[in-house]
Amino acid sequence: DNAGVPGRVRVAVRLRPRNAEELVEDADFADCVELQPELKRLKLRKNNWDSDTYEFDEVLTEFASQKRVYEVVAKPVVESVLDGYNGTIMAYGQTGTGKTYTLGRLGEEDTAARGIMVRAMEDILADVSLETDSVSVSYLQLYMETIQDLLDPANDNIPIVEDPKTGDVSVPGATLVEIRDQHSFVELLRLGEAHRFAANTKLNTESSRSHAILMVHVKRSVKARDSAFSSENGNSPHMKTLKPSLVRKGKLVVVDLAGSERIDKSGSEGHTLEEAKSINLSLSALGKCINALAENSAHVPVRDSKLTRLLKDSFGGTARTSLVITIGPSPRHRGETASTIMFGQRAM
Ligand code: ADP
Ligand code: MG
Repeated sequence: DNAGVPGRVRVAVRLRPRNAEELVEDADFADCVELQPELKRLKLRKNNWDSDTYEFDEVLTEFASQKRVYEVVAKPVVESVLDGYNGTIMAYGQTGTGKTYTLGRLGEEDTAARGIMVRAMEDILADVSLETDSVSVSYLQLYMETIQDLLDPANDNIPIVEDPKTGDVSVPGATLVEIRDQHSFVELLRLGEAHRFAANTKLNTESSRSHAILMVHVKRSVKARDSAFSSENGNSPHMKTLKPSLVRKGKLVVVDLAGSERIDKSGSEGHTLEEAKSINLSLSALGKCINALAENSAHVPVRDSKLTRLLKDSFGGTARTSLVITIGPSPRHRGETASTIMFGQRAM
């Protein structure tokens, strides 16, 4: 179990319920997986009498609530961001298995349905003090190795900048909006979604072909007397006024990854083949970085794609990363489900 262990990836698997079509069309067939949440195990059916068993940090059944998923997958990461560390939450899986449901649901009609992004901001706003702290967000789409600003559609080719001294990565060209209340955050997510839809219509593609990346920057001023330095000059009253207040910065990155399904290259037209190559490149680069972390390798190959370059500060060190892999129950998608499970397994 990687709970709370920095530098490693914590992996949860979430099964979505059968949809209406699967309930009817696959009524005579068993699900391709069987979950044993108490044992944190998942069985992938090979045939009617045999299955392979896999273990995960968490196993979330089709009955797991959004609240529980948030608590298991995201809350420890959000808490470490509030303490000034980098945290990343990613969803990986075939299109239609619940990545956006898990991360991005706004849930205004039904608060129980709210996803990880909305719940994370709620916890962040509850913890900071807006007189002294600041919370600001950027919302990006990464499509075919190009970063687009979902908060400003005209800003469609944002460079990644790396600090030569610290090695920290940032996207200073991206719109950064200060958040003061939950309502304006939800409005911003909605605006970003609308821009994403419009941009993808223009590019003649679908949102499942790109990665959506929400970045939340939390800057907190820590009074000197609360800081680690306080004991050094604690008994020198006149020094107190001279002490600068320290700033503690945490960054939360939430990534709704492009669909992991293998795209049928035969019969695909136009730039679909290029899209497929680009998605394969970034997801396999991500896989390699996560594997390197799992194996405690000194070298994490972040340079292979923009996705991994952008996530550079999420790998290793004091960063906390949570990966939720989403799967569907249909026996028809057994092959894709198996490959998603293997991606998750390699991360552990
Ligand atoms: P993805 O983003 O992976 O392509 P979506 O999040 O859009 O998938 O989910 C596909 C469909 O399945 C949506 O209609 C969504 O509401 C539904 N769905 C996904 N996960 C769940 C779940 N855990 N419970 C109920 N419905 C779900
Ligand atoms: Mg989606």
